[in-house]
Amino acid sequence: MVQIVLLWLYHGCRPLLIMPSSSPFFWKSGSGTATMAIMTSSGKDEYLMDIALAYAAQAAALGEVPVGAVLVHKDGSLLAGAGNCCIQANDPTGHAEIRTLRLAAEKIGNYRLPGTTLYVTLEPCPMCATALLLARVERIVFGATDTKSGGIQSVYRIGSDGCLNHRFLITGGMRAEECGSILKEFFRRRR
Ligand SMILES: [Zn+2]
Repeated sequence: MVQIVLLWLYHGCRPLLIMPSSSPFFWKSGSGTATMAIMTSSGKDEYLMDIALAYAAQAAALGEVPVGAVLVHKDGSLLAGAGNCCIQANDPTGHAEIRTLRLAAEKIGNYRLPGTTLYVTLEPCPMCATALLLARVERIVFGATDTKSGGIQSVYRIGSDGCLNHRFLITGGMRAEECGSILKEFFRRRR
């Protein structure tokens, strides 16, 4: 289960404010950009996947396939996060990763996002993997593998097959059981 409770103010499925209500870490959000401090690398990965899981839970509550993502800069700035929103937005490209990239790029005023890490609850599909590559995201941390349409490891290997001019650092399987469970439960309820 999601360990962190997030409070959202959102319009439709567009999150406007993300605020951890209980955190062992220090955050500041005066500029609208949360910043993390005093955090080990593995603890940071776990914590940020918790936030991605919370976005996945938000998507599920809205009837969307529960996938969530969050993008963080290596300076500790949390740039953006989002859940899937294909159905409500009538947008076939409304995957959590694409929405997160758009929000982050808009926030920093640059279509390139070097030095960033994307945390996502499911292995990105080929569309999202290509978008992440175009944005020059440095690292991808994903939860559950997608054996049917995974774009960076399971089916395609975009960003590590040497075909294109950017390579991702990839960490797979982070909180995989929780990330997979929320998907399984969602589809079980829909049957
Ligand atoms: Zn995708």
